[in-house]
Amino acid sequence: MNPILVIFSGGQDSTTCLMKAIAERGAENVHTVTFSYGQRHALEVQLAEAIAREQHVASHKTITVDWYRDITHNALLDPSMTIGRAENAPFPNTFVEGRNALFILTAAIYAKSKGIYDLMIGVSDADYSGYPDCRAPFIRSMNATLNLAMDCTFTLYAPLQHLTKEQEWALADRLGCLEYIRTRTLTCYEGIPGDGCGKCPSCKLRAAGLKAYLESKQRPQA
Ligand code: ZN
Repeated sequence: MNPILVIFSGGQDSTTCLMKAIAERGAENVHTVTFSYGQRHALEVQLAEAIAREQHVASHKTITVDWYRDITHNALLDPSMTIGRAENAPFPNTFVEGRNALFILTAAIYAKSKGIYDLMIGVSDADYSGYPDCRAPFIRSMNATLNLAMDCTFTLYAPLQHLTKEQEWALADRLGCLEYIRTRTLTCYEGIPGDGCGKCPSCKLRAAGLKAYLESKQRPQA
């Protein structure tokens, strides 16, 4: 089984990816990388490390990008900003310019040094905020760029690409980790793990998806 490196934040999306990778390849073939880039909540990095340990991944690495805040400004890196979307803005002010490009490239450099050519990231373009670096064309383009840049064959997996939050919860349930993901992961912009603050856009999206999934599960199948 080929080893795989999962770009892992300890949130719902990347934890669902992690569990899928472990189910398919075994924890001994799954590696994780977490980026500490000045995000609002340092807890996110600690939680990612703890989940990686609990899941017995083959290795876990935290990479610090401590200069990100010096070159760009947004609500995710600046806790004094109120999270929201300006009128006519294409996406909310939590968008971090170039983040997925930077993370995927950095992860690929690290992966190649370990002889790993499969990468996984938990982006989705359904149900989300319209971030450009979560769309399928970007992921395909980034995969091609990595191969050209390093003259090798990476495969960049984005298994949540076309899943809504409801479908993502269904996947977690099929993987037998719905409760684990519900209680253990951190998606909330206020930094509260599990069900979170319940009020921020991220919590609302997560909760609405879970509610829709649990309701559909209770409905008798036709
Ligand atoms: Zn929240």
